[in-house]
Amino acid sequence: MGNSDFHGALFVPAAHHWVGREGQQPAWIILHGTAGFTTARQCADYFADPATEASAHYIVGRDGEVIQCVHEINAAWANGAITGEPGTGGDGVHHDAWWSQMGLNPNLLTIAIEHVKPSQDNSDSLTTEQKAASFRLIADICQRWGIPPRFADARGGITGHFSIDPVNRSGCPGPYPWAELWEFVKGGAAMVPSGWKDDGKTLVAPNGVKVVQGFRDYVLAHAWHADNWPLESEHGATPVEISNPSLGGGTRQRFRWTTLEWTPKRGVFEAWTGQELQAYELRTAALNKEVAELKAKLAARPVGLTEPMQNALRNALPVLQYLCK
Ligand SMILES: [Zn+2]
Repeated sequence: MGNSDFHGALFVPAAHHWVGREGQQPAWIILHGTAGFTTARQCADYFADPATEASAHYIVGRDGEVIQCVHEINAAWANGAITGEPGTGGDGVHHDAWWSQMGLNPNLLTIAIEHVKPSQDNSDSLTTEQKAASFRLIADICQRWGIPPRFADARGGITGHFSIDPVNRSGCPGPYPWAELWEFVKGGAAMVPSGWKDDGKTLVAPNGVKVVQGFRDYVLAHAWHADNWPLESEHGATPVEISNPSLGGGTRQRFRWTTLEWTPKRGVFEAWTGQELQAYELRTAALNKEVAELKAKLAARPVGLTEPMQNALRNALPVLQYLCK
């Protein structure tokens, strides 16, 4: 969309950035948490305010929305100063030594990604949708800039703000699914299950059924087994689970071995398929019992009914059975 560098990202320009990178090229991706805000748009509007002396290249929302605020060829006002002593970053005391050894503004060498976290201390975990969007964005940037898709070292890679500013930003980004990220970026294209096809927007299983949007992100981010193909398209369901009505309405897609569900409150998640199946089995048993009772009544009471009435009742049975499914 617009003139963003990442497919699908909305571009909302930040008020401040450095034009160009003084001849440097990004070699590190720095992950941040917003410590406030509930949507990517709120954070983008904050960066768009000239009074805000900060910016980032990207913001990833709780719902998986990605907004770009600074072009990747430019440097964001994202990482502040290098603090602490040189050493091995991540302990809240030392910055990773290469930052100070290079004698350059780290912003010239980095691409900054903010993750919306409502808590002021960044203690929130990413939502499933946010995680999927963050992983895809990082993999895409790594590929386009030749950034090594691994934990940062002196030659480049991915790390958190704590690596540069351990004194003030030891809790930035806060909880982040690093292990899952390494799995995802290492897998690269192999995360598309074998025999399935993905064009960057739509995932198509070997049986031709499509998996889109958040469900697609989930499948791509979870080492999905190739044989666990979808049995139906995603569709609305209210309630989304009969065994847990408190979830409310949402959407659902059944796969051979599991079920993906989405609700506005929880985002995408894997359903408790066994519990749900048992609820259906109990319901089916109760309905079968009802049908058997109706059949017995019908058989016991033909007397007094005219033949057309009996026929009408018999014709109605399959319809009743169908409706009770
Ligand atoms: Zn930060």
